[in-house]
Amino acid sequence: MTQRPAKMIPAKKVPAKKVNVLGATGSIGMSSLDLIAKYPDQFSVHILAVHNNADALADLAERFKPVHVVIMGADGYKRLKSRLADSGVAIHQGMDALLDLLMLDCDLTINGISGVAGLLPSLKVLEQGGTCAIANKESLVAAGAILMDTCRKYGGTILPTDSEHNAIFQVWSKPHHHAIKDITLTASGGPFLHATKAEIEAATLEQALRHPNWQMGRKISIDSATMMNKGLEVIEACVLFDLPEHKVNIVVHPQSIIHGLVNYADGSMLAQLGPADMRVPLSYVLAWPDRLPWAEQSIDLTAIGALDFMSLDHARFPAVGLARQAWNTGGLAPAILNAANEAAVAAFLDQKIGFTDIIAAIDYALSDMPAALMTSALSDISLDHILAIDLETKTRISAWLEERR
Ligand code: NDP
Ligand code: MG
Repeated sequence: MTQRPAKMIPAKKVPAKKVNVLGATGSIGMSSLDLIAKYPDQFSVHILAVHNNADALADLAERFKPVHVVIMGADGYKRLKSRLADSGVAIHQGMDALLDLLMLDCDLTINGISGVAGLLPSLKVLEQGGTCAIANKESLVAAGAILMDTCRKYGGTILPTDSEHNAIFQVWSKPHHHAIKDITLTASGGPFLHATKAEIEAATLEQALRHPNWQMGRKISIDSATMMNKGLEVIEACVLFDLPEHKVNIVVHPQSIIHGLVNYADGSMLAQLGPADMRVPLSYVLAWPDRLPWAEQSIDLTAIGALDFMSLDHARFPAVGLARQAWNTGGLAPAILNAANEAAVAAFLDQKIGFTDIIAAIDYALSDMPAALMTSALSDISLDHILAIDLETKTRISAWLEERR
């Protein structure tokens, strides 16, 4: 009997994942698109959204051929229309247009918008029962309970994307949930880790923007220098992993190789290690629940040699303590902390205030707030409350900083 050649069964073609990239021109957006470009069969870009950078968005649209582009500003919109006139890409302007588009079917939205401006888009995705990879930590700080409740109510999925939280997400063993004692987030310590108090007081914008390990947007770079980034991340962890604040430890680890650890009751600590490159967590959320084989090499532990760990010096970096205090106070305190920080960092970036005025402004914002706003149960707080207090705090703190000049 002659044997017939075995019939080749063609591999089942998996349709490309439709991905929205919000904050496409930023550090998170560009890192996401860098990965997407490596796997054109696996990902197609659906919406690209930015604030006002029309030329950079037009370049991305020409390269990635999204279905829609959205820009917030009117000038940018005009410019975008002339740049993309015959491209076939649909061009939209404003937050309402973006929110309408986010009601369309899509597999994954990566939210790399900076500031509380990223809140409504994440909510819209979750209200559709969609999957949102949230790098935008400010919205989790200001409105964590609302985001988590919306996610649960509509059956959506939040993928933790900030590197430390993504690390925890990777090593959090669901079957051993009951045996998780606490978690540890690492902090590089930022550009002023070894600076004296006097040097920190005299810090210039240029020094504060020079992060030793990570390439990031301007706002988060300043947050890393004050270490408010770690303060925001403590709250972000409480929200994402439903933990009380005292179960979120911070350890300074200047090499930024270990990003987060889950500490189990049997004495085991499970850690995630990787280079200081946001493409590692972003590849995880892009491929989730699978993994992308994009990294050419693993980190070389022998080349690194030693990993250092130290406690945070609260005297030089009071930001984490303020964030813990705001979270424990509850009510609108985390939203106030975040808004004051956004306003003060914007003023510092505009070179209107000194570096240590940032923390002074947050301290003032929290201490000057009517007690009733700080203590109401989190579940009583509506989106309108959050948006109103965000705006009110930003106006109040900008005026206070202006008066002190
Ligand atoms: P960038 O400043 O580099 O980029 C911000 C992006 O958001 C830009 O594309 C900007 O558009 C867009 N944007 C700003 N405001 C709006 C708005 N109102 N509507 C629509 N788009 C807007 O920031 P990063 O990428 O560094 O950070 C983004 C977020 O991710 C932050 O919340 C940050 O804390 C978080 N994160 C960042 C990390 C990093 O390594 N960069 C690491 C972990 C978290 P335009 O260019 O037009 O101004
Ligand atoms: Mg982080």
